[in-house]
Amino acid sequence: MVKLIVVNEGLGEVDMRKISDWGNYPVIEAEVGGFDSEGQLRSKLERPGPVIAFGNGRSYGDASLQENILLTRRFNKLLSFDETTGSLSCQSGVLLSEILDVFVPRGWFLPVTPGTKLITVGGAIAADVHGKNHHVAGSFGRHIVSMDVMRNEGSVITCSPTENSDFFKITVGGMGLTGIIMNATFRLKKVETAYIREETIRAANLDEIMDCFEASSDWTYSVAWIDCLAKGEQLGRSIMMRGEHATQAELVAPAHKHAPFNPRKGLHLSVPISFPNFALNHWTMQAFNLIYYNKFRPGTHKSIVDYNQFFYPLDAIDNWNRIYGSRGFTQYQFVIPKAAGREGMRTILKRITDSGLGSFLAVLKLFGEQDSFISFPMAGYTLALDFPISLKALDLFKELDAMVADYGGRLYLAKDSRMDAEMFEKTYPNADEFRQAISLLNDGETRFASLLSKRIGITD
Ligand SMILES: Cc1cc2nc3c(=O)[nH]c(=O)nc-3n(C[C@H](O)[C@H](O)[C@H](O)COP(=O)(O)OP(=O)(O)OC[C@H]3O[C@@H](n4cnc5c(N)ncnc54)[C@H](O)[C@@H]3O)c2cc1C
Repeated sequence: MVKLIVVNEGLGEVDMRKISDWGNYPVIEAEVGGFDSEGQLRSKLERPGPVIAFGNGRSYGDASLQENILLTRRFNKLLSFDETTGSLSCQSGVLLSEILDVFVPRGWFLPVTPGTKLITVGGAIAADVHGKNHHVAGSFGRHIVSMDVMRNEGSVITCSPTENSDFFKITVGGMGLTGIIMNATFRLKKVETAYIREETIRAANLDEIMDCFEASSDWTYSVAWIDCLAKGEQLGRSIMMRGEHATQAELVAPAHKHAPFNPRKGLHLSVPISFPNFALNHWTMQAFNLIYYNKFRPGTHKSIVDYNQFFYPLDAIDNWNRIYGSRGFTQYQFVIPKAAGREGMRTILKRITDSGLGSFLAVLKLFGEQDSFISFPMAGYTLALDFPISLKALDLFKELDAMVADYGGRLYLAKDSRMDAEMFEKTYPNADEFRQAISLLNDGETRFASLLSKRIGITD
């Protein structure tokens, strides 16, 4: 059976659907309805019982899933833009890709972007997403000027770092549990071109790549692809990619100089059906990693690439999640504090490579300082890797959880589909306060809840 993620379907009335987030695990049967005006949203919220917002389903697990789902994608208008400050106001169902399509040609870019542009503004705020520039720009929440959130009684709360600031604090990174984010205003940043001046550096092992991150702290963007199947001396071998927005003077190719804001559209591919479960195994993944690593020659290489190639290589393949087959997959993303960095990352990585279960999509990044209430990032190293769902992988995660917690780290809620309440409690210092704040808002009647919030004990 091919599982489809339900988006962009123009659903007016409530409909019973099979639905999942990006990892296709879990897949649930839910009542799904959409809205395209404030009035429609208000009437949807008149209905008793808990709901959860579903943006574009690019969280991996069950953050936007439960029996009653509100699709936000049709609530997708750009509202206003201030050329002097770069402040953009829009409805929460707008995709980051739609913002880029309109604003890059005018010389503006997102302040923070994750590794896919196919997420909504509401999803970016609720998960407080981070990008390759976290060490200099923090997460998405840092760039929000204000937002409007609708709660159960249909009233709209306007909040910002200074207005209703406690409510703002728990909505940013609050995984949709404070209400439906309707509109948001946030600041774009000025760029001279749609291109990135990129350097790629091949690192032979974990020490080399960590040295490379330290030496790249002046770069706006940095990230590394790491081979999670390489062992021994080669443990942690990686490719660092670092970049800066290119200036017009830095463009050399005639095609780039001629149209600095309009890169040519690249090849777009699609995975038409779910792969059989056996297609991805240790050997196919090892072969892929070897070929990919050796594609890069030793040393540092410079090039000018367009922003889609640099930030969103995976978006060029529609439905790439189908390569994991019908069993689905999950992403294990953890962060550990800088102090635990080298030793901690080596120990955890070794356990992952010894298991032979990791796959080819592993991303390493050094986060900077983070000042927020319930968001994932902290100053330290984060590693994200995909695992096809299996009993062995689920057992491994239990072991990894204990290691991550011992090193003072935590897991990213937007990627998670299996962490338990104890792990959440132990690793998020404000877990208890967050639970109490949500319970106070609900005042005895849970209005916003997801499978995630129930599993980790934030809501009933
Ligand atoms: C290929 C890929 C790469 C990724 N890379 C990164 C990365 O580099 N950094 C990163 O931080 N994340 C990354 N992610 C995760 C992704 O950015 C987040 O999960 C994001 O929240 C998804 O947004 P969405 O619009 O798809 O929302 P959904 O996945 O549908 O929902 C996510 C959460 O937001 C809530 N929500 C959505 N809209 C609203 C709203 N209007 N009001 C209230 N709550 C709402 C939902 O209830 C849910 O809790 C990646 C995901 C993929 C698939």
